[in-house]
Amino acid sequence: MSSLSERDRRVLWHPYTQHGIDPEPLPVAAARGAILTLEDGRELIDGISSWWTCLHGHAHPKIVQAMAAQAAELDHVIFAGATHRPAVELGERLVELAPEGLARVFYSDNGSTAVEVALKMTYQACVHRGEPERTVFIALEGSYHGDTFGAMSIGDPVPFFEPYGPFLFEVVRIPPEAEALGEAFKQHAGRIAALIAEPLVLGAGGMRMVEAAFYRRARELTRAEGALLIADEVMTGFGRTGTRFACEQAGVAPDLMCLAKGLTNGMLPLAVTLATEELFEAFLSEERSRFFPHGHSMTANPIGCAVALASLEVGEETDVLGRLSEIGRTIENRLEGLRGDPRVANLRRLGGIVAFDRVVPPEKAGYLSNVSLHVRRDSIERGVLLRPLGNVIYALPPACTSEEQCDRIAEAMIASIDCFTA
Ligand SMILES: *Cc1c(COP(=O)(O)O)cnc(C)c1O
Repeated sequence: MSSLSERDRRVLWHPYTQHGIDPEPLPVAAARGAILTLEDGRELIDGISSWWTCLHGHAHPKIVQAMAAQAAELDHVIFAGATHRPAVELGERLVELAPEGLARVFYSDNGSTAVEVALKMTYQACVHRGEPERTVFIALEGSYHGDTFGAMSIGDPVPFFEPYGPFLFEVVRIPPEAEALGEAFKQHAGRIAALIAEPLVLGAGGMRMVEAAFYRRARELTRAEGALLIADEVMTGFGRTGTRFACEQAGVAPDLMCLAKGLTNGMLPLAVTLATEELFEAFLSEERSRFFPHGHSMTANPIGCAVALASLEVGEETDVLGRLSEIGRTIENRLEGLRGDPRVANLRRLGGIVAFDRVVPPEKAGYLSNVSLHVRRDSIERGVLLRPLGNVIYALPPACTSEEQCDRIAEAMIASIDCFTA
């Protein structure tokens, strides 16, 4: 019998992986709490919450139980013209928890589709209101919104999406600064459909933290312009930044909000786009053609909804918001010694997200640099799974991570500085 890695190499194609140079994928056999167990018995602390999805920890018994019970009761059913208890209950719950005014829940499967839905709803509502000239989307430099065509268009093309250039629609891209924002709204007045942004933290763009005041200004300007504000909280949602949603810290209620990743504790693919009642009403008509033509085969999968409900309950029982912030603080404290180190810049934290930039010559910076590869290798040897965004070293572990595990994550982050020559 050949090893899992060998069989993998023959038939599989991995995401965001350069098969020409990247090391073999880790064969993971099991996961419990903050620990991933490899096929050979080695254990790794999941320092990045399995691509930012795992909120509470792996295989949480209450969520596993909810998943099994729902699978036995109602596994799936078409969601056009049918409904079910898990979808309704989750919808009610999300509307309760969401910022003021978000009153409608549209289900899809992942963060990218949640963004596609928001973009389509936005523009179609413009058309329905007789404003088809509102074709301008404003987006941020360094933003990431997913990998489907609409999401790629909105996201910063550098460094991933330049090859698709001819197929991406044009957006007005600005740095996350008030002045640029004001300028863009002045220049494109009357033609702006929406501003889309990741509130407070640009995740894949390098855990870049942006001041709350920027989003307050964005809210004022979108309102004055008659444009929408779309909050992509796919990464920041459900407590990562210390509040349930990052836009709460800015005191901002968006018109649309995209959620995925932490929604199901990373256990099943499920996403939602929350919208205002006003947007929903822009689609109400006696004419069928004015409906929202979007829906996936697995829309509102009952098992996914039941898991999301269980995850929300666990979050309340365990004070997930407080726990994540505490974990972030613990790791940040352990890294304090790095302040002043010339190889380290911008040590920063928001909630449970801790990051710093490893200073490297410009040609070695950026997502595609090999820094990430060196650090991944080194941290795995230390029993911690890290996956830097280029030269941005960060941790964002699940809420069950113990103090001792936080220490080990911090140690791996500190060691990462010495694991290669810049
Ligand atoms: C991960 C992410 C997405 C895409 O979500 P997928 O589930 O990977 O499609 C969109 N927006 C943000 C901010 C993300 O972090």
